[in-house]
Amino acid sequence: MLPSLYGNNLERIESWLLKGGHSTSCADILCRYIYNGRNKKLLPQFSKTVLEQLENEFTSELPKPSSIQRAKDGTIKFLLELHDGEKVEAVLIPFYKRYTLCVSSQVGCAMNCDFCYTGTMGLKRNLEAGEIVGQYLFAYEFLKAEKGSNEPRPNIVMMGMGEPLHNFEEVKMALKVFTAEKGLALSPRQITLSTVGYLPGLKRWHEMPPVNLALSLHSPIKEVRDKLIPVNRGWPLPEVMEVLDKLPLHHRQVITYEYLLIKGMTDRDSDAHELAKIILGKRAMINLIPFNPYPGSEYKKPSTDDVERFKKILVSYSLMTMVRTTKGDEILAACGQLKAKQLSL
Ligand code: SF4
Repeated sequence: MLPSLYGNNLERIESWLLKGGHSTSCADILCRYIYNGRNKKLLPQFSKTVLEQLENEFTSELPKPSSIQRAKDGTIKFLLELHDGEKVEAVLIPFYKRYTLCVSSQVGCAMNCDFCYTGTMGLKRNLEAGEIVGQYLFAYEFLKAEKGSNEPRPNIVMMGMGEPLHNFEEVKMALKVFTAEKGLALSPRQITLSTVGYLPGLKRWHEMPPVNLALSLHSPIKEVRDKLIPVNRGWPLPEVMEVLDKLPLHHRQVITYEYLLIKGMTDRDSDAHELAKIILGKRAMINLIPFNPYPGSEYKKPSTDDVERFKKILVSYSLMTMVRTTKGDEILAACGQLKAKQLSL
């Protein structure tokens, strides 16, 4: 199988041109061609040989939808088939004036989080950068076909299948393509990468383009977090927080702390107070996520009153706190519910 055309940033295109004995002077225009829908008007600006080599050495195929499901709230979940038949999910979530696309970074996941549907699959393989970018290109083309070519480019959350920092190099390249001026030219502020606290990756965070970071914290209590997120046993929360505290943040940037509210397990008053103690004094936003039950899960969703009570405690510490409204839960497109199989509605 040929490598994907969409795993290339300007530097890679330049070295590819050099390797093929060409001048790099058309690298910029070639990138514009690749990331602007292979606009035919740009063709006269580079030689026929370059184009032929490009077509022969890369594939421009995007992942193919094997199912598309829509929730009443406007969420659209794609099950996308990759070149080897493996499947990943990408979810378009309506959010004010612009969609947000939740993209996958791996087929399955090795982190085995206890609350997560994807975690039950195990890790099948890493996605290549071109397959990560391909999910975005596919979803944006889909949106434009439905809503018109003026549809703004979706924001991105790397919260789909997989732990992004466990696939560091390919995710880094995908983020470079997303944010490069000679790529998709998204602002790094439009992108959030979410991790469960994969410490080897967090220690290399400075290598990534300056996108937003979210940590799935989920419990301030070691035993509870150990159960929910098994990697906490090897890389406990205090060690992770120590690394996060040292990350340089640009003006007005905060780290988002995702907190899963599970009835009777993480939603007690004492949990809220402990959480507040950990977060106080940091440039932080807390995102409360009421648990979304999935078939066979042992955990329960808290009541709306319990969610409000928990939020009130955090707000009493003047902590910026939001409750993430659950979108797409009837099609299992909500956080922690992605698993690459077709689900009947
Ligand atoms: S929550 Fe994220 S890191 Fe944990 S198993 Fe699920 S996909 Fe993997």
